[in-house]
Amino acid sequence: MIAIRGAITVDSDTPEEIKGAVKDLLCSIKEKNNLSQDDVVCIMLSSTQDIHSFYPAKAAREAGFDGCALFSSAEPDIEGSLPLCIRVMLLCDGKFKPCHVYLRGAALLRKDLTSRLVVALDGPAGSGKSTAAKALAKHFNILYLDTGAMYRACALKCLGCGTPLDDGNAVKKVIDSIDLKIEYDCGRQVTILDGKDVSEEIRKPEVSSLASRVSAFPCVREKMVEMQRKIASSMSCVVDGRDIGTNVLPDCEHKFYITASTSVRANRRFLEEKAKGYETSLESVEADIIARDKRDTEREVAPLRKAKDAVLVDTSDMTEKQVLEYLVNKIQEKI
Ligand code: C5P
Repeated sequence: MIAIRGAITVDSDTPEEIKGAVKDLLCSIKEKNNLSQDDVVCIMLSSTQDIHSFYPAKAAREAGFDGCALFSSAEPDIEGSLPLCIRVMLLCDGKFKPCHVYLRGAALLRKDLTSRLVVALDGPAGSGKSTAAKALAKHFNILYLDTGAMYRACALKCLGCGTPLDDGNAVKKVIDSIDLKIEYDCGRQVTILDGKDVSEEIRKPEVSSLASRVSAFPCVREKMVEMQRKIASSMSCVVDGRDIGTNVLPDCEHKFYITASTSVRANRRFLEEKAKGYETSLESVEADIIARDKRDTEREVAPLRKAKDAVLVDTSDMTEKQVLEYLVNKIQEKI
């Protein structure tokens, strides 16, 4: 007899959420352990006390797991435990190494996983890496560190000071005294430059282009990389950028290189910029992306490059949901 464990969280206590979560969890356990319905002898479920609206065992039955004994119970209310969480133990016939499954932030329940989870996502502009990084951080209930925002803030600072970007000494002087802080407000990264929230301002198209010029200076990279390593060494996080897997966190266990064709990337950025009300054209966005790719891949210090041990993900024909699922599965395979 083998015992397989698993857990999942729900966003809210509704019958739909509970039915969906139990189904996802049990189907994932079945698939990852190559089980047939006949292998499962019994399924025991427990849920935290903030779950009342639906009986998890009933959800298991409705999901098609009806040929075995089913049992549900409520867990004691333990301070500090993960909220809205459903746990499961399946007893199965056979002899194999069980693959335990922890989904939607429930990974934090596992001692072996709680140590620290750090994921590095690199790739060019418009590849979908920041969308994927945000979704991944939400999924695992960990922090998202957008390192591009830091280089953008450096560019904004230089812009504000009228610093000529062909003068390395002038850039160094500005960056040496930069007052840049990364803070978090309900999980959202807030970029504070000289005491002011510049999270929106740094997204302007002209700042994008300047950021890729400013980020080529070694003095800028040195300072930003030091800040990034400090943040990533203290907590579980998803870090996205251009040189995370190759330079900032070379020992990171979970590395991905996210890319997409130039036209797909340009189109995504064009739609984003249009939605924000910026005056722009597809041609100019594409030209900017090509110029940025060139600068980012050809600069001397820490150029944009796939780390040898990074998993390549081409998102050209993938939906956001597919990208997230792919990344989560790859990460779960290793932990
Ligand atoms: O990712 P995002 O488009 O916000 O990044 C803006 C610019 O910052 C990039 O074009 C790149 O030149 C630079 N960057 C970098 N290294 C990182 C993140 C961003 O050089 N880790």
